[in-house]
Amino acid sequence: MNGKTMRKINTIIIHHSATEFGSADQMSGFHFVILNGTENDGGDYLEARDGVTVIGNSLESPGKHTIGHDLDSVGICIIGNQTFSEKQFSSFEVLVRQLKTEIPNMIQIVGHDCYEPVDCPAFDWREYLGSRGL
Ligand SMILES: [Zn+2]
Repeated sequence: MNGKTMRKINTIIIHHSATEFGSADQMSGFHFVILNGTENDGGDYLEARDGVTVIGNSLESPGKHTIGHDLDSVGICIIGNQTFSEKQFSSFEVLVRQLKTEIPNMIQIVGHDCYEPVDCPAFDWREYLGSRGL
C-alpha cells in the first residue's frame, strides 16, 4: 500500500447537514456533524453558513458520508436544514469547478439521495446544477 497514491475519485456527492448552525469558525476542525439524525462525517468539504469552504479531509483520505461510495467520491456537505444561502451556493460552485479541474476522472455530480433513500440534500440539486451549468 502506498499511502500517497491518489484514490480514484469520479463522483461528487452533495449532502446537507440538517443543522441550522455552522459558520466557518464553528466548523473548522469539526470533523463530525449531525447528518440526517445520525452522527456521520459531513464529507470531505463543508460549505459553512457564511459561505466559507471548510476542508474536512484531504482528498487522499476518503470521508465517511455515503455507504458504499466513499472511496470513489468526494462528499460536499452544505451546512443548513431547509434553507441555504446564495453565498453557500456560490462557494459550492467555485469548489466544484476547482475539483473538476483537479480531478480529470470526475464524471458526475449527484445528490446523496441517488444512493440511499434519504432526504439529502434538502434542495433540488438537479435544478441547481443545471442553473449553474455544472
Ligand atoms: Zn447526505
